[in-house]
Amino acid sequence: MWKEFLYSLINFLILFGALFFLTRKMIAKMFRSRQEKIGQDLQDADDARKEAERLTEDIAEANAQGERDRTAILSDAKVRAEESSAAAEIERQGEVQALKLAAEQSEEQLRADMEERVRRETVRRVAEAAGETLREDRFAEARQGLTDSFIEQIKELVAAMPSDILNMNELKKLDISISSAEPLSDEEMKKLTQILCETFISCHNEVDKDLIGGVRMRVGDTVYDGTLSHSLDRLTQDVERNTLQSDSETQSIAEGIREKLKKPATDIDVFQTGEVISVSDGICRVSGLADVMAGEMLEFPGDLKGMVMDLDSEDVGVVLLGNFESVQEGMSVRRTGRIIEVPVGEAMIGRVVDSLGRPVDGRGPIAATEHRAIESPAPNVLNRQPVSVPLQTGIKAIDALIPIGRGQRELIIGDRQTGKTAIAIDTILNQKGKNVLCIYVAIGQKESTVASVVETLRSRGAMDYTTVVCAHASEPAPMLYIAPYAGAAIGEHFMYQGKDVLIIYDDLSKQAVAYREISLLLQRPPGREAYPGDVFYLHSRLLERAARLSDELGGGSMTALPIIETQAGDISAYIPTNVISITDGQIFLETDLFHSGVRPAVNVGLSVSRVGGAAQLGAMKQVAGRLRMDLAQYRELASFAQFGSDLDKSTRATLERGAHMTELLKQPQYQPMDAADQVVAIFAAAEGYTDSLPLEAVARFEEGLVEEVHRKMPALADAIYTGKKLPAETLTELRGVIEAFKETF
Ligand code: ATP
Ligand code: MG
Repeated sequence: MWKEFLYSLINFLILFGALFFLTRKMIAKMFRSRQEKIGQDLQDADDARKEAERLTEDIAEANAQGERDRTAILSDAKVRAEESSAAAEIERQGEVQALKLAAEQSEEQLRADMEERVRRETVRRVAEAAGETLREDRFAEARQGLTDSFIEQIKELVAAMPSDILNMNELKKLDISISSAEPLSDEEMKKLTQILCETFISCHNEVDKDLIGGVRMRVGDTVYDGTLSHSLDRLTQDVERNTLQSDSETQSIAEGIREKLKKPATDIDVFQTGEVISVSDGICRVSGLADVMAGEMLEFPGDLKGMVMDLDSEDVGVVLLGNFESVQEGMSVRRTGRIIEVPVGEAMIGRVVDSLGRPVDGRGPIAATEHRAIESPAPNVLNRQPVSVPLQTGIKAIDALIPIGRGQRELIIGDRQTGKTAIAIDTILNQKGKNVLCIYVAIGQKESTVASVVETLRSRGAMDYTTVVCAHASEPAPMLYIAPYAGAAIGEHFMYQGKDVLIIYDDLSKQAVAYREISLLLQRPPGREAYPGDVFYLHSRLLERAARLSDELGGGSMTALPIIETQAGDISAYIPTNVISITDGQIFLETDLFHSGVRPAVNVGLSVSRVGGAAQLGAMKQVAGRLRMDLAQYRELASFAQFGSDLDKSTRATLERGAHMTELLKQPQYQPMDAADQVVAIFAAAEGYTDSLPLEAVARFEEGLVEEVHRKMPALADAIYTGKKLPAETLTELRGVIEAFKETF
């Protein structure tokens, strides 16, 4: 009987496959209006591009203006004017580029969205038609079979949930409701009631034609669903997911459904539901769901996800992850039984995803087979080992003075526009060919900023080993709040596979602000700076997940570079002090240094790396040892030497050395430097070979010297990479090469 039913259904669906191709045109027509809207959006994108072009014209005009101004100014001011106008031009061109990129990307995304919507609609229509057919009389017997099989199977499935036991103990009752498409016979009811213990009080049968066939039973908050309409719903979702995953247009949707129906889902779906009782500002309270877990993902109608944040005795507080306009009171919410999770694995590399791991780069679906909960406990002490392998940032000032090891947590802290992101991006660029997978988590940034970062990474080949997780400023606060955890989960997966991972959280102050917003909306009591009391835990549980695992666990590592933005250089504010105390050191960037041209604007005095020294290359330790002292003395003297004019010889020498060192540590963006070259350059400066050069020649000298050493001492790089100190004879040889080069310079 059941087979017959199946075959006719399959036949119907084959027919429907054909029908689908016919209806496609119709549906396309239906979507014309939507297309028009998208056309409008595309038009907007086009406008944005035109705007960008206009900006380019503006730049030309500004240049002409600059030309006129320049001639008027005195000769010494002239140099400065040139510099600033060039900088402005670069900045504006960057802006234009970013605008263009953002426009292009949103265009791509819109196209992908439209295709997806058409497909979803088609699937829904096919399912609706299938439902209609199943209601026909010729399937009556099959429907009865479904009811029988429900009664047969429910015996093993029905079990008391913790909440039900609580209800029975306290209230001495448990609500059970049974719905079915056709009224159940007395005998059937008796069988069902027999199965359930005597505890329940009211048990009646409600007839609901929408169920098509089969039975649905509700015990407390738990639903045992064996109805046709529900199977059809699930099927639709499955097919949707599958067809959305395959790019080939050849696999039609009807084909997908037919494939699924070959193994009919007669099993009973067991799940818990609750009901929305109030909703506001992206937060809702849901009653029922008595067994729900903190951090669990809930499903709302219409593909909207929610996360459980508050567990109260009467109801639970849920934050909505996405567009929450459709949520209304009385809506039914389904438990998933899983903590919020993201797809992980190789498929994520090279992609740009949102906080839930959904692609936002318009490059099609992600074919990930594995998922990982965004929150998971950090590895314990026994599962870790000390940091011993360096993570080269390629930035002289950092690798020499504030070395970072794999598995370390090093904070990048500074005011806005001090080059924090630049350091992070350079570090990613420097991991090329070093077997380190990178994850860049952008929290609360403008879309255009993130687009230009992605473009930078892509154009330099860094997207081959990088994943970008972004929660834009315009997204709801919960998305910003979970983004770093999502990034950490993606990284952790690789770490436990024994790989080395670098993760950047840009920036955690915005995450803290998002969390404050959620907490206040959930009416948790505000504490210092209106942050909730557990804001420290927010960052500590995230950064504790960075680790270098023991060899038994594969020896993988996850290095974290969190970024914190300060206000007016105040590192003693609440969030900065928190994160400073959680991390293994900080790189402090200063606005004054940045504006005086010292870029990267690292304040060497306030920056520190507490564990990275153990991982620093021996040769680097050897040559950079004096650097920190020299620079510290220089800063001390420089601050009061500006008042005096006649200085003694040794003071002048210290000042000279310091100024040249500072000059040497300057480094342009996107030009990470090889560790061996850094050793050569720093050695030359530390030994005083640059002291007699004019400051503006230092960079040129460094570049020439590095090339010369490559030519004359090709084995030096390998010797440096062994990690051991350089022997005295190698240093003598190096001195010889430097001296010879200086003579020709
Ligand atoms: P925000 O607070 O806006 O996030 P930020 O601190 O991340 O800013 P960046 O965006 O990295 O700062 O840099 C600010 C500007 O300084 C950018 O235009 C960048 O190109 C420039 N910049 C950063 N580092 C350097 C460098 N080493 N040399 C030259 N310019 C740099
Ligand atoms: Mg930044």
